[in-house]
Amino acid sequence: MDSDSANDVQAELDSVEAELEVVELQIAELLEKQASLTSRRKRLLRKLEEACDSAQPSGSSSGSGSGAAMTKQELLRYENDDFSWSTELQQNLKDVFQLSKFRSLQLKAINLSMSGKDLFLVMPTGRGKSLCYQLPAVCSEGFTLVVTPLVSLMEDQLMYLKSIDVEAVSLNASSSKEHAKMVLAGMTDTKSLFKLLYVTPEKIAKSKLLMSRLEKAYNAGRLSRIAVDEVHCCSQWGHDFRPDYKLLGILKRQFPKVPLLGLTATATSSVLKDCQKILCVPEPVTLTASFNRTNLYYEVLLKDSNSVDSISDISALIKERYKDQSGIVYVFSQKDAETVSADLQKKGINAYPYHANMNPEDKSRVHRKWANNKIQVVVATVAFGMGIDKPDVRFVIHHTISKSIENYYQESGRAGRDDKPADCIVYFGFNDIFRISTMVVMENVGQQKLLTMVDYCQNVDRCRRSVIAVHFDEVWDNEGCNKMCDVCRRVSLCFLPDYITVDITQHAKDVVQIVELVTEAWMGKGPAKRRKMIQTTTLSRLEVEAIITSLLLQGYLSEDFSFTPYTTYFYLKLGRKAPMLKNQSHSITMKRRRTGLEANTVSTTQQTVQKSFRKAFGCISID
Ligand code: ADP
Ligand code: MG
Ligand code: ZN
Repeated sequence: MDSDSANDVQAELDSVEAELEVVELQIAELLEKQASLTSRRKRLLRKLEEACDSAQPSGSSSGSGSGAAMTKQELLRYENDDFSWSTELQQNLKDVFQLSKFRSLQLKAINLSMSGKDLFLVMPTGRGKSLCYQLPAVCSEGFTLVVTPLVSLMEDQLMYLKSIDVEAVSLNASSSKEHAKMVLAGMTDTKSLFKLLYVTPEKIAKSKLLMSRLEKAYNAGRLSRIAVDEVHCCSQWGHDFRPDYKLLGILKRQFPKVPLLGLTATATSSVLKDCQKILCVPEPVTLTASFNRTNLYYEVLLKDSNSVDSISDISALIKERYKDQSGIVYVFSQKDAETVSADLQKKGINAYPYHANMNPEDKSRVHRKWANNKIQVVVATVAFGMGIDKPDVRFVIHHTISKSIENYYQESGRAGRDDKPADCIVYFGFNDIFRISTMVVMENVGQQKLLTMVDYCQNVDRCRRSVIAVHFDEVWDNEGCNKMCDVCRRVSLCFLPDYITVDITQHAKDVVQIVELVTEAWMGKGPAKRRKMIQTTTLSRLEVEAIITSLLLQGYLSEDFSFTPYTTYFYLKLGRKAPMLKNQSHSITMKRRRTGLEANTVSTTQQTVQKSFRKAFGCISID
């Protein structure tokens, strides 16, 4: 190709890219419109359902049309208490499980499963998914097969079941020969008592003996139900893919008449579709509990790049807002857990570290003292997670951003389990993006997921809840937040949007040029004096960081990595959209908070009102 025709192709490419950009914007607008229409439809349907409900005596709706997906009307029937098993269910709930009532969706899920339906249950961690197969297991003939990814989860459940006198057994890699023999024999023995059999997916995949025993139990009508816990592990698109889960389709193929129950806390609808295919369940009913925890207040604060100042910010926050209240500070590394907890202690806060590298006694001592309110704050890595069931955690502060929105949702979700108000606060620091980036570089789609978290933090104009909800594919209703996030609270305090849209095209061009120059210089090309061509900026550090972050999020820059045996280096390179900046008409914008100066354009009366509002509500100043 000669250089003229190359130029022509380049020009055409530019115009196509520009057009694509416009289309992408239109799609974004349409998606927003779709979201608002869907939430209106949802509200209207709910109204209609309520109207129908009050017109019809309950329990009169017909059973589900076999084969076809169930309508909302048909699903309603499963909230009733008039099934043949209902009395036994209520009795066992109280007598065996010692619980006074069902939580939302539990009864519906249990009734569906007891009716023989295949079911996917999506419910945030800690809301009580296990009961949805444990209680049916106790109320059914034979036993329930439970597939669990981790032996530790299995042991937790066995311990709990033992404490309430429910017979349960397990088979995993560390089971002894005698134990395995006893369990395998029990599967077909009508006199055996166990109600639940826990296995790892590897067992299903590798043990022919187990499969043949399951076959026998199935034929004898003793396999009452199959529960697949953490069902998202089936899908490569989920955040925790496990190869052995891919083979679990054998269960439904071999035992088509046994109802399957898949449980997970985090699965988007595309992940669930994938799981459905892998598990060979033709038409499962999917029940999704809302991700919206209405009592949690979400806030993002800028992290000071100076670590001494950032600790001062956190300790001031804890002392002012959470005096004598229980909380968690999540940090990035074991070293951070040690230093941050020591720094907080120096500030007079009763804080202790928790991470995987501590010895077990120290870990359980910290956990126990915190649970008994002898320690106010645990400064922890994500190793502090499983099994935390403290109801009165009033704050979860992230000293470093999480590696994805899923992770953030789970970690922050440990606040306010008692349904009383609690705060979830992230300190967002520019450098942390790259610290985490190098950590997740080996993970499938790790980078992409990290950027969703960065987007959550950088965002100044969308409700934080809506960002989380949209991420989990939940239809979002704009009234759902109730001013329980910093973005919504700001809007309501300031009367006019407190952010502005700024044109950053020229900045982007400068940055892209620098990256180009540096890349060339690094490769030994071009004269050394090129360095002098680099345009320096008068922008503040925070502005520069915000612009670079925005360019990363929008695809004008991207990250790259190189590996040495000792460490992973990251660097910035041009992103897929960088060439578009060559096009004169191409422009980029970003939204950012107003600065003090810009706030002056607001009339003085409004300012006074804002100030007093902020004082009254303890809202952080916007400049
Ligand atoms: P998940 O698997 O959804 O993370 P679990 O099944 O482990 O949650 O349950 C979390 C906690 O909730 C357990 O301590 C359990 O006893 C409790 N729980 C479950 N159902 C109820 C209920 N109906 N009422 C009160 N507590 C419940
Ligand atoms: Mg669970
Ligand atoms: Zn909000």
